[in-house]
Amino acid sequence: MDGTRRRQIEAVSPEDRFTKARAVMRFADWTLSADKEGSGPIFIAECTTCDESSDAAENKADPEVWCLRHAGALGHTGFRGITTAYFRATPVEPSK
Ligand SMILES: [Zn+2]
Repeated sequence: MDGTRRRQIEAVSPEDRFTKARAVMRFADWTLSADKEGSGPIFIAECTTCDESSDAAENKADPEVWCLRHAGALGHTGFRGITTAYFRATPVEPSK
């Protein structure tokens, strides 16, 4: 383990490791954060009875409406929501 990597790991103390993980994760000289270059999170709903699914949407409302229409049309009442989020790893800028 070289000096640069050791300093990066020590920068995140054990007590705030979970807090940091939600916003920015650091390892060695790379950092992982939400990808703002492409689309935001994608939402899909699936029926747990017949496995039919809604179209992918960039909002939760469309898949939720699909669930209600599906329940009304077929009487299926169980659904699972799937959210796909995108992350981007970027090199950490050297400290000045
Ligand atoms: Zn169904």
